[in-house]
Amino acid sequence: MKCKICTSVSQRAFSAKMLEKYEIQYYLCGTCGFLQTETPYWLEESYGSAISAFDTGLIARNIGLSKKVSALVYFLFDHKASFLDYAGGYGVFTRLMRDAGFDFYWHDPYSQNLVARGFEYDGTAEIDLITTFESFEHFTDPLAELEKMMAISGNILFSTELLPTPVPPPGSWWYYGFEHGQHVSFYSRETLRYLAAKLGVSVYSYGSTLHLFTSRKINPKAFYFVMKFRKILLGYVSRSMKSKTLDDMHYLQSRMLN
Ligand SMILES: [Zn+2]
Repeated sequence: MKCKICTSVSQRAFSAKMLEKYEIQYYLCGTCGFLQTETPYWLEESYGSAISAFDTGLIARNIGLSKKVSALVYFLFDHKASFLDYAGGYGVFTRLMRDAGFDFYWHDPYSQNLVARGFEYDGTAEIDLITTFESFEHFTDPLAELEKMMAISGNILFSTELLPTPVPPPGSWWYYGFEHGQHVSFYSRETLRYLAAKLGVSVYSYGSTLHLFTSRKINPKAFYFVMKFRKILLGYVSRSMKSKTLDDMHYLQSRMLN
């Protein structure tokens, strides 16, 4: 099977039972370290089922992420600029970031915007940084998605759990997600380096989960420092930023009444 990232030939790594019924092959690329499933035919079932109802961590995860991103955007980007949450789901993260005072917009062709209505990305606004969380492992065509994002901004902050080396056998890594079948693309540290070189950007990671592709020269120590000490820094950020909660309500009311 051809690697979706670098087009080398990927070798069969293992097979595993998906959604408790399909035996699925996984292929590993020896060149860029990307692991992919065979061509997915089960996704409709994966997304259509009640499995997403089990995601009790949705709100807690978004609150945690909004704190990390607030510190990062404030200190490493232009905090007065506009931002986009790509594959933004129900809009929870966009709303939280606007509540924190950052001009965030929402985009997601596969989900309904429930809580950030009125702040959909219009496709033309200048975007300083894209955020996208827990989406990379869902991408069936990662390069196409990355190209779409890079056309909007050269700075992409994303979360995905890095594939450990050596590749864990099925049953010993929760992130394979056999029970829901939605994870079809797995990136090793090497894959991110390969992608960054291909896109002509730098890549920084905080631990194994949070990653930044950026066309800017950022001091890696600054990235680490801001993430590491974000709880201390956040007090300063929240004192400096003005929440958009009320202004947004007035804006939406005036739009509806006019
Ligand atoms: Zn590859």
